[in-house]
Parts: sequence; C-alpha cells; structure tokens
Amino acid sequence: MTQGARVTTRPEVHRREVATHCPYCALQCGMVLREADGRIEVAPRDFPTNRGGLCQKGWTAAELLDHPDRLAAPLLRDRPGAPLRPASWDEALDRVAAGIRAVQDRHGPDAVAVFGGGGLTNEKAYALGKFARVALRTRHIDYNGRWCMSSAAAAGLRAFGVDRGLPFPLADLGRADTLLLVGANPAETMPPLLRHLADQRARGGQLIVIDPRLTATARQADRHLQPLPGTDLAVANALLHVALTEGWLDRAYVADRTSGFDEVRRTVAGYWPAEVERLSGVPVADLEATARALATVDRAIILTARGAEQHAKGVDTVTAFINLALALGLPGRPGSGYGCLTGQGNGQGGREHGQKADQLPGYRRIDDPAAREHVARVWGVPADDLPGPGVPAYALLDSLGTATGPRALLVFGSNPVVSAPRAARVESRLRALDLLVVADFVRSETADLADVVLPVAQWAEEDGTLTNLEGRVLRRRALREPPPGVRTELAVLAGLAARLHAGAILHRTPHRTDLFPTPGSAGSGGGNAAGGHGFPADPRTVFEELRRASAGGPADYAGVTWERVERDEGVFWPCPDPDGPDTPRLFTESFPTPDGRARFHPVTHWPAAEEVCAEYPLHFTTGRVLAHYQSGAQTRRVDALRRAAPEGFVELHPDLADRLGVAGGDEVRVVSRRGELRAPARLSPAIRPDTVFAPFHWPGAARANSVTNDAVDPLSGMPEFKICAVRVEKA
Ligand code: SF4
Repeated sequence: MTQGARVTTRPEVHRREVATHCPYCALQCGMVLREADGRIEVAPRDFPTNRGGLCQKGWTAAELLDHPDRLAAPLLRDRPGAPLRPASWDEALDRVAAGIRAVQDRHGPDAVAVFGGGGLTNEKAYALGKFARVALRTRHIDYNGRWCMSSAAAAGLRAFGVDRGLPFPLADLGRADTLLLVGANPAETMPPLLRHLADQRARGGQLIVIDPRLTATARQADRHLQPLPGTDLAVANALLHVALTEGWLDRAYVADRTSGFDEVRRTVAGYWPAEVERLSGVPVADLEATARALATVDRAIILTARGAEQHAKGVDTVTAFINLALALGLPGRPGSGYGCLTGQGNGQGGREHGQKADQLPGYRRIDDPAAREHVARVWGVPADDLPGPGVPAYALLDSLGTATGPRALLVFGSNPVVSAPRAARVESRLRALDLLVVADFVRSETADLADVVLPVAQWAEEDGTLTNLEGRVLRRRALREPPPGVRTELAVLAGLAARLHAGAILHRTPHRTDLFPTPGSAGSGGGNAAGGHGFPADPRTVFEELRRASAGGPADYAGVTWERVERDEGVFWPCPDPDGPDTPRLFTESFPTPDGRARFHPVTHWPAAEEVCAEYPLHFTTGRVLAHYQSGAQTRRVDALRRAAPEGFVELHPDLADRLGVAGGDEVRVVSRRGELRAPARLSPAIRPDTVFAPFHWPGAARANSVTNDAVDPLSGMPEFKICAVRVEKA
C-alpha cells in the first residue's frame, strides 16, 4: 500500500504542503498533499488509523482536482427537456431561490426537501440542517448516510444510549484475542485497517469472519462462517445460545451493568445450533467454535458492517450481536467490545449535526423539547418555529413529486440515481419534481437530471472537520483555493439564504424575515468568503457555532477546538470542556442511559422481505470492490481505478453457472420484481451457489440498484440492499 508518490499537474507556480486526510472512506487515512509548480503529490502519513498506508483510492484522489470533467460554472436547464447550459452564479442562485419561493408559495414549506451526504464535513452537515430548518422551514431533510449506518446507529442507541461507531480507538483491534467481523470486508473497503488485524494476528489473536462470500477478508480469517444472506441474526442468537449452554455468561457484568437479560435468555433458548445450521447453512461445529473463541479469551471484539446492517431487520441483527457482546461482558473493557465499521468519510459526523430527519446538532432529537429550546437559542429563533421530524431517506425520495410529497429537492454530496435502492423508481420521482438542484463537482448521474447544477469545491480546496469511524474529530486542510467559477457548499448556502431573505422582504412569501438571525454582511453570497443572514461561509465560524449548538448533547463538541484537533491528532467526542479530557473509550464505568446500564433487547429471526420462489429462485446481494467508492461518480473518473475495475459484473458460483449454461465473461441478466441489470458473468467458488453478487458502483445497464429491494427497517429506515430474490439468465 505504501509506494512511490503519485503526481497530478496544474499550471501554477507556487509551492505548498498540507497534512490532511483522504476524501473517501471513514478510515480517514492521514495523507500529505504537496503542490509544487502545478504538480500535486499525494503521500501517506503516519496517522493512528492508517499507520502510513493508503489504498489505491487515496493514492489517486488528487487526480480529480484538475479532471476535465470538473464543473467550472453553474449549469441551468431553461425548460424541461432542454440541455443544461452554462450560467453565472447570480443567475443560477436567483433561479434556485425563485424556484423555492414559487414551490413554497404554492404548496407550503415542506414542499422543498434537502438531501445531504455522509461525505460532507461537519460544518456543511450542520449548516445544511440549519438551512433546512431555519431558511427553508422544511421538515424534509435526510441524507445518504441513512443507507450506511442507520441500523447500527439505532441498535447502539437503544442498547448503549449512544451511537458512536467504534466506542474505542481502532488500535484496540490489535489487542483483541478474538476478533469477529460480521458482514465486513475491510480488505477491499479500507485496506490500511488490515495493519491492525496484522497486529492482532501477530499477537496470536484469532480472526473470524461471517460473510456469505469468501471475501478477501474472509480468506485471511482463521474461520469463515458463510451463512445464507439474511440469517445473521439467527447465527448471533445461536452463538449466545451456545455461550449460555456452556456457562460462559459473564454473570457479574450482566448483573451490575445491564438490564433486560432474562427475556433475551428465554428468546435465545430456542436457537438450537442444529436448527440454525438448517436455516443458515453454518455448521454447528463452527457456531460452537466461534462462541468458544469469543467467550473463553480475555479480550474479544465484535464488529458489524453493512453486510449485517443493510436489511429490513438490520437493527435487530445488530442488536443480536450487541446482546452477545453484553452477555460476554465485552463493552467497556479495553481490547474488548462491540463496534460497527462506518463506511462514508464523514458517516459518523454527518449523522451527529442535523442532516438526519429526526436530529438536531449534538445528536439531539428534534422531538425533544429541551433540545429544541437549546438549538433554537443558538440559532436565534423561537423553538416553536423549528419544524418537527421528517422521514427517512428512501421514504423521502419515494414521495418526491407525488400529491403529498415535496415538489423541489436540493441535493448536496449524493448521487441517489445510482446509490438508492429500486433506483429506477427513485429516478422517476426525481424527474417528477418541479425543481431539482444538485451541488457537485462533476456531472453525476443525478446532476444529469437537475434543473440547476452548482459546481462546488473538492476536499483539497476547503478547510473543515470530519469525524472518523472512531468518533475522532479530524482536520481537513485546504491545499489551494477552489478554481475560478467554483464555490464551497457553505458559500452556496450563504448565497441562497441571502436571496431567500431578500425575497422574504420584497415578496409576500412564507419566509419570515425574523427567522434569519445573526445578520452578518448584507452580501448576497457573492463568493467563497461571503456569508450572512445566519449562514457564514467561513468553516471555522460555522464550527464555533456547531460547538455551541452541540454543547450538552450526546455528541458534545463544546471542548473541541481546531487548535486542539491539530495538536492532538484528533479529539474524541464527547468532549464538553476545552480544558478537560476527551473520550477515546466509552462505557468504561457506565453507559449513557438514564440508569447507567446497557439494555438487552430480545430479537428473533424473520425472513427477508422478499423470499426466493419458482420465478425468482436466487438470492441477490450487493457490495463494493477495492477500486471504487460508493456510486463511483468520483472513482470511475480516475484512470488507474477505471483500469483496475472498468465495469460492473455479476459474480456467481461455477455450479450455478453450469446449471444456467453461462460461461465466464458471458453477459447475464439479473432480474428482480423491480428491474434488471446486465453485466458480464464472473465465476467464483467464493460465493454460495444459491446467491449472486454485483457491486453497486456503476450506472446504466450494470446498475445493481435497479434490482435491489426498497423494503426498509421499521426502526432505522435502512433499505434491504443486501438481499432480494432474482433470476439470472444468459443475455
Ligand atoms: Fe484510506 Fe479509505 Fe482513503 Fe483508502 S479510501 S486511502 S482506506 S481513507
């Protein structure tokens, strides 16, 4: 992973260097960017998460800065069906503001919705949430992180009273005697994390992986459990059943630090390993050995990721693994515990500061009167004027353009045309809008449908903070200014707020002028430095306000300063006092619940939302490949990554391929009740013969989400990306 520095060029003549972090995943690998005479060099730096390593995506991230596909001016569509044409910023922002006013005049404040992203900095996520509630007064805001972390978040909240992906530093992985990964494939999604697994193995630790595919991570494991997709919950209950039968319960921990165990004990009593073997395909011997490996060592860690979480029963599946961890007394013990591996770059911070439908900054609930009072005070508005909770991401997208749904949508940092489940339906909803605005730095597939496209800055062109998978707040540092014609998202929000404010004065509109507090410059958001009307464009100013807004909340950033983040290589929340300690390790003494105890919740297996049948006899599951990130809008444009993984594919077992008359490389159709994808077949004995897999990074014919199911978890709103019923045919 460490190799020669990678270089991209731009005709400039100055020399600069910044220590920053990779723009992609939640590992947030440390890197150094150097610009000299127009050349940008990426080099890894030693940071606690990546320890000097980068994956291919990080090495090549700078290539997008000067990419020919980069947008350099706003684009407008003059009428439906007309091509997008370049426009000035004033024309574009005027058009957006006028469109918002027209829709809200006619249909009310909730007729405008906002859709954010888990890659936005903390400052942008915060500003977006405030913009929705204060400037637009809409309850409709959610983000693509709903599809990443929401099930683990909901399970963590109800068990521990807080949602922080890893409640301990990543380095703890290296100290675990047994490490169980459930539905996680870091060898492909975040390769430098394997350095911590190597530590663990070097100390004699055992790695166990639960995954329906023999992934690159599973190949390195001491034991691989390969359950039928959708049966992880039953596997977890069986592991707890074995632990109880064998007398491995940590009785003192359960008695002193938890509540609700008896009901869980009764529930898992019925999960006999032999029956779970019949259901899941995992042999009894593997269930017993795994339970033993977790229960009979000093330190054990259980980690879940999207494979376990992206199900209509994702919250309950994670809960089953948390129950197991609690029964064994793991959470809060150094080198032990339960955690989940966050996916997107700011998946953690993005869900703490208000771009989630039910949240206010500091991980406060929007339906909590005390939380509303606090945040409203910081924002300078009456608490009664803050809207209530909106709906989760898929429900929001599904309602667009309907009789009761929003008529306008502002998208920041997301590409739902590729990444949403049942994507053709989502695409049709986006086309039904009166106004679609997309802020991005390339023409993503979603931007292609927009009425207005706003070109925004990239990671190396902005300052700010992100919060990584450990709950560690990090500094992103700008190497250079955005190119001419490009603005930051904060500047875009400032410009729109100014126009909505002016519109509220000049027209009789739903926008109340007294809801634009903290008047700053009277500027109209005329550039990256401008700001006002409560929406500063300067990230540091926004962060200072975020600190105040989060103070006293579960995710308390009041004691986090940029200086401290730089000095200490990150600050772990909660950190309420600038002079007090931060919190690298949670739960050491108690849990942040009303009685200080963690809570067990009994959970039972139920079938997937869509079961196989004669017409659709195979299970379909999705995931990532090493070279690409999320919808691929960025990584598909990087030469080296495109060469490494040029197109989508369908992975199927050779026995299944035989039955279907398919050879490797043949184009196949994967058909579900919602649509189909076409891609070349890739034969692999690494997958179960009853299951097919496709990566979700590609649009068009190979779009995996044309097939996926939009059934969602009732608690988290997480769609069931990881299992649906399909048939496969040679195309
Ligand atoms: Fe590190 Fe993730 Fe970036 Fe790869 S994509 S370099 S693992 S932060």
